[in-house]
Amino acid sequence: MQTIERLRRDINNCVLCQSTLPLEPRPIVQFSAESKLLIVGQAPGIKAHKLNRPFEDASGNRLRNWLGLNRAQFYDASLTAIVPMGFCYPGRGTSGDLPPLQECAKQWRTSLLKELKFVQLTIVVGLYAMRYHFPQNRSNLTEIVKDWSSLLPSYVALPHPSPRNNIWLKKNPWFEKDCVPELQKRIKDVVS
Ligand code: SF4
Repeated sequence: MQTIERLRRDINNCVLCQSTLPLEPRPIVQFSAESKLLIVGQAPGIKAHKLNRPFEDASGNRLRNWLGLNRAQFYDASLTAIVPMGFCYPGRGTSGDLPPLQECAKQWRTSLLKELKFVQLTIVVGLYAMRYHFPQNRSNLTEIVKDWSSLLPSYVALPHPSPRNNIWLKKNPWFEKDCVPELQKRIKDVVS
């Protein structure tokens, strides 16, 4: 069995955080050895947990719009890997979902990312993913996203596409005006 298939099996069977998680472990990841785009989000929400599929909601619609990908492209693992910082639904806190469980990245990230050899663009969504991928950069989310031209062509940093971020989007119109079109151009290059 290929390493990546062994990893898929082991991730699917993972129960490492069973005692901490509010529901049964259900890793929500999508990848293949050929994936060219890598989306790194936070952790699946309750809807993704129930449907066993990520981004089947308003956040997913907005993210697909930003990326310029249709649903078929977005859910095609040979094009798009979706590997969040935590693979299982972490539960709810007082102000939204809890952060991804740190054990998950420690357990799986290094070995899995090593197997995604054809990724040309990593799309880093939200501050947890930014802290992992840009550990030297202690700027806040807005500053990191604003620096998009220095991150491309290999990376781009995005705010979470949740409707909860509508105020951020209103305050930062440069994001959809300048960053999103450049991101879409880069994705077109990768897809073609
Ligand atoms: S969050 Fe990650 S490490 Fe924890 S049970 Fe799920 S797959 Fe395993």
